[in-house]
Amino acid sequence: MIYLDNNATTPIDPAVAEKMSDFIKENFGNPSSLYPIGRQVKEMVTEARETLAKALGAGRTEIVFTGSGTEADNFAIRGVLDALPEKNEFITSVIEHPAVIQTANYLEKKGIKVTYVPVDKYGTVDLQFLKEAVTPQTAIISIMHANNEIGTIQPIEEISRIAKEKGILLHTDAVQSFSKIDVNVNKLGVDLLSISGHKIYGPKGVGALYIRKGTHIMPLIYGGHQEREMRAGTENTAGIIGLGEAVRVIKERGDRDKKRIEKLAEKLKKGIKDNVPKVKFNGHEKERIKGTLNFAFYGLEAEAILLALATKGIYVSTGSACSEGAEDDSHVLDAIGLKPEVARSCIRFSLGRFNSKEDIDLVLKELPDIVAKFREIPALDIDEED
Ligand code: PLP
Repeated sequence: MIYLDNNATTPIDPAVAEKMSDFIKENFGNPSSLYPIGRQVKEMVTEARETLAKALGAGRTEIVFTGSGTEADNFAIRGVLDALPEKNEFITSVIEHPAVIQTANYLEKKGIKVTYVPVDKYGTVDLQFLKEAVTPQTAIISIMHANNEIGTIQPIEEISRIAKEKGILLHTDAVQSFSKIDVNVNKLGVDLLSISGHKIYGPKGVGALYIRKGTHIMPLIYGGHQEREMRAGTENTAGIIGLGEAVRVIKERGDRDKKRIEKLAEKLKKGIKDNVPKVKFNGHEKERIKGTLNFAFYGLEAEAILLALATKGIYVSTGSACSEGAEDDSHVLDAIGLKPEVARSCIRFSLGRFNSKEDIDLVLKELPDIVAKFREIPALDIDEED
């Protein structure tokens, strides 16, 4: 299997699997219990919290573990709006993950005014538009750090300056950037930041929200005293331990992985451009997650390419995995100005820690033939554009 869908999910790192498996076998205590088997688990949860906090440049008390990246996004946005009832406006972008877009849609139904900031053809948010959208009623701005479909990195530092000037809280969804580029809450200047375990070679069903000390926010889930009363419910202890281990592994080998992944992705990008005619690279050339490559194959249906690659054991995606299976076209590809038929020809290759040079060689061997064969089918109207 050649797995090139690491933005959808990542294989669990062996060190993480081992740590979780040992933990599950040996530790069943409830971290809220005061006797030793509970205290011990609590200490391990604290250690994981510390590891993550340190990696983000945050303090331990500023991390709340959640059930997913989606929950962290919901918590940040809805929690702040709940805490600031005198403010009723929210600003986000048109290319956010559904975790944010659907939350915005829900809030609109509840009477919140939502402004969706447009992007240019590279997927970068329009800063001037954003600046002008801010009003004294704006409670929070949420702009993703890196896009899951095309990899474009947003100018969060600049957005932070705009937000700070006006005294508005800033959240960023760093689910796709954490582990791939530097993510430091102070350098970025954010008040809230979401991450997810399964995108960083950790377990599924666990995420975290960074909440800057002093930020006004209400919980999403009420109940017991867990997570300093910010997220009730007995903790997903194995998931949290696994997430902590995944972050530790990133610290240990992240820089090396990054260099290797970027080199492999560059080889794949160049190989596709050189060997497959009538393609278009989507996203920003420089300000992007280098391991994410999104290409349009003019005149073809991406799904057909995906299935043909799958018969060779090569797994890619036609867009965001989360919207895969849905009828809708990609809102991201639409937002960067692709015509629907071009958007439907787009394939995302997302590389990760376990990809090798041989993987890329095989894709470059199979893909040109697959595309050429589909293009031999007559009556395909190939409409190339910039
Ligand atoms: N945000 C982004 C940018 C994502 O890519 C994803 C997952 O694809 C999520 C949020 C949701 O994370 P989770 O799967 O942990 O809910």
